Amino acid sequence: MTTRNHCLERDAQDPLAPLRAQFDLPAGVIYLDGNSLGARPKAALARAQQVIAQEWGHDLIRSWNTAGWFELPRRLGNLLAPLIGGVDGEVVVTDTTSVNLFKALAAALHMQAAAERRVIVTERANFPTDIYMAQGLTGWLDRGYSLRLIDSPDQLPAAIGADVALVMLTHVNYRTGYQYDMKATSALAHAAGALIVWDLAHSAGAVPVDLSADGADLAVGCTYKYLNGGPGAPAFIWVPKRHQAQFRQPLSGWWGHAAPFAMAPDFQPADGIARALCGTQPIVSLAMVECGLDVHRQTSMAAIRAKSLALTDLFIDLVEARCADHPLGLVTPRDHARRGSQVSFTHPHGYAVMQALIGRGVIGDYREPAIMRFGFTPLYTSYADVWDAVEILRDILDRKDYNVDAKRDAVT
Ligand SMILES: *Cc1c(COP(=O)(O)O)cnc(C)c1O
Repeated sequence: MTTRNHCLERDAQDPLAPLRAQFDLPAGVIYLDGNSLGARPKAALARAQQVIAQEWGHDLIRSWNTAGWFELPRRLGNLLAPLIGGVDGEVVVTDTTSVNLFKALAAALHMQAAAERRVIVTERANFPTDIYMAQGLTGWLDRGYSLRLIDSPDQLPAAIGADVALVMLTHVNYRTGYQYDMKATSALAHAAGALIVWDLAHSAGAVPVDLSADGADLAVGCTYKYLNGGPGAPAFIWVPKRHQAQFRQPLSGWWGHAAPFAMAPDFQPADGIARALCGTQPIVSLAMVECGLDVHRQTSMAAIRAKSLALTDLFIDLVEARCADHPLGLVTPRDHARRGSQVSFTHPHGYAVMQALIGRGVIGDYREPAIMRFGFTPLYTSYADVWDAVEILRDILDRKDYNVDAKRDAVT
């Protein structure tokens, strides 16, 4: 039987434990929602003050050059690249995940334009914006493109036929925490002549990713989740060197121009990854992304993964042992290879139970239908946190201390 003391011993031996001190987490909170909004690196406050007071306030327009604002999307992309198996010049931090996905899908369809392929394969359970962006793009193109939605990963081989232009998948599912085998799935797409676009929103900074080794064609992802970049922080897009010359995206703004300050009347895409850019970025928000990446630079994805699996295993074991009398259903794969860095359980009153947890300082979130989501961020979550969270959950369930009529907030 695991005890709280065992958890404290594991914390004492945890090589990542010291990194928690680099985050500002309020007292009395067990934060299990880093998969939705990462916690704040302490350094972000001083960095924001520097950007606002010094770079903007004092140095004014000169900061585009003197503070490196203009280079920032590329410089941050180079810092992020090693976390996802990219190299210098393959990643930019810019725009939103939704917008980057639009660019990636449009570019991938363009690369396939010569082929008579008109189908995009994705899954019904994908994060809605991914499906919506594909619907928006294909509807707008009006060239006979359609979406083919699979209902489970095992339907993928049958769905990827000779009519498929591209496969668009989210590597780790936001609701279930299911993780695709990137290498095998990319190979499946390629064997059928399709390209594959990966969304790494729940992977970047959470699980090891090697886009190059695993044969991905294009990828996008989020910096405000496991990368702790701050609310609404700009996202990223990865275009490998081998595809950059053919990468043409329709949001041909001046930041993607070969010579933005030549002010020429014709669009000429920049060489390299800069062609994935569009326009002026929210520099204050963009600058915060570096503070999250700085914490990641002090460890490795292997260390993060080892602790993530230990935390999620512990959570699953404790919930199943200590809340055994309650109707909780594990949705997340037990198989390590198929698990991201979150654990989801269903409960018939999932929303009400989650509200009760939040009321007692255990912050997770809720996703339809009936799913309670718990994200585990090894940079700042301890084994004792896991113990305490499960004890609070057990207490709430045992005493039925939740309000089934709880009013739904706009963001669940
Ligand atoms: C979080 C998430 C997004 C977010 O997209 P935004 O454009 O930042 O709102 C997109 N896709 C997936 C799979 C996500 O998990």
